[in-house]
Amino acid sequence: MRVAEVVVIGAGVIGAACAEALSASGLRVTVLDRGPLAAGTSAAGEGNVLVSDKESGSELDLALSSLRLWPALVADDDVEWDPKGGLVVATGDPEPLRLFADAQREVGVDARWTSRAEALEMEPHLTRRITAAVFYPQDAQLQPVLATQALLAKVRRRGGVLRPGVTALGLDTTGLHTSEGVIACEHVVNACGPWAGDVSRALGAPIAIAPRRGMVLVTAPLPPTVHHKVYDADYVGAVASGEADLQTSTVVESTAAGTVLIGSSRERVGFDESIRVRVLRELARKAVALFPALTDVPVMRAYGGFRPYAPDHLPVIGADPRVPGLWHATGHEGAGIGLAAATGALLAELITGATPHLDPHPFRVDRPGVMTCT
Ligand SMILES: Cc1cc2nc3c(=O)[nH]c(=O)nc-3n(C[C@H](O)[C@H](O)[C@H](O)COP(=O)(O)OP(=O)(O)OC[C@H]3O[C@@H](n4cnc5c(N)ncnc54)[C@H](O)[C@@H]3O)c2cc1C
Repeated sequence: MRVAEVVVIGAGVIGAACAEALSASGLRVTVLDRGPLAAGTSAAGEGNVLVSDKESGSELDLALSSLRLWPALVADDDVEWDPKGGLVVATGDPEPLRLFADAQREVGVDARWTSRAEALEMEPHLTRRITAAVFYPQDAQLQPVLATQALLAKVRRRGGVLRPGVTALGLDTTGLHTSEGVIACEHVVNACGPWAGDVSRALGAPIAIAPRRGMVLVTAPLPPTVHHKVYDADYVGAVASGEADLQTSTVVESTAAGTVLIGSSRERVGFDESIRVRVLRELARKAVALFPALTDVPVMRAYGGFRPYAPDHLPVIGADPRVPGLWHATGHEGAGIGLAAATGALLAELITGATPHLDPHPFRVDRPGVMTCT
């Protein structure tokens, strides 16, 4: 039997951030994943670290905290950190975008109303049809797999153990039962992303986390065409919606390699991995409407992933009141890359009994609709 103080199940960006913060607090941490490290949803994320798409409230507080923490966490690593800023544009009535930005500004977000001419100067290939724009200098981007691996490397350097290819099966008073035997431990963290609902059931404490499918198109490397993270204001509505049916809204950004990522769709179709041409066509159509210069560029590939979806769109971070020693850190939906740094810090504070750096109450496990009985 192996012994650890904390076992983190799931080596995605959330599990890695939790393990990093726990090991920095001096705890002996084991991270296990049934697959390779950093190969789940975190390998499918576009890497946006955003405040622009979050309305004022607890998720925005978590995002602002994360934004402060990320640069120091990855300061010594090449994770393609790029504080490029985000440009949100309206192509119809600008009033909803103005009201949204005004409310964000009141809680400390740097949201700059930008004239049409200024927006076109920042993004010369943008459609001339825009009616308004808001620039968010705080928005940033990183490469999620590199960032996850960098956090896991810190855990290993502090003596933590990384165990890919090990599946968590159940939990009892002897410890965590896995495909490779029992690990005796004081705490177990369920950081299984879209599979956190299934894993919570296996651990005897079900929470309502479900997959929400997303797809992204990737162009071949292009000459500089898109300079910021650019999206249509209707993206915010798609993020906040709980509709099961297909929703697409245009999100466009370039990567360090010169490719342009075109996202994103949202659909609740379980773990269905099939590539749907209808979805890709819709993404391409909307991207070309925003950036006509993308009309004839070659698409190199398309890929998808499953966002970990909580019914009220808020992450679940905290102790499970039903099973002593069990913690959850999941449900970050389409923002887990951005929110990981603050999630790890908060979870470590809660486990070690330190004063939390932000109010953990909104993220508690026993909130309506999240803690389930089956
Ligand atoms: C198309 C798309 C675009 C996105 N873009 C962005 C973006 O730009 N910015 C952003 O912030 N977020 C984005 N997201 C969301 C982000 O990717 C997720 O919120 C985040 O990756 C979730 O990380 P995680 O660690 O919780 O889950 P994962 O990365 O999925 O990690 C969970 C791990 O748990 C493991 N696991 C499951 N069951 C078991 C078991 N029984 N035993 C052991 N291990 C197990 C899995 O193998 C997996 O590796 C995007 C998501 C998608 C799908």
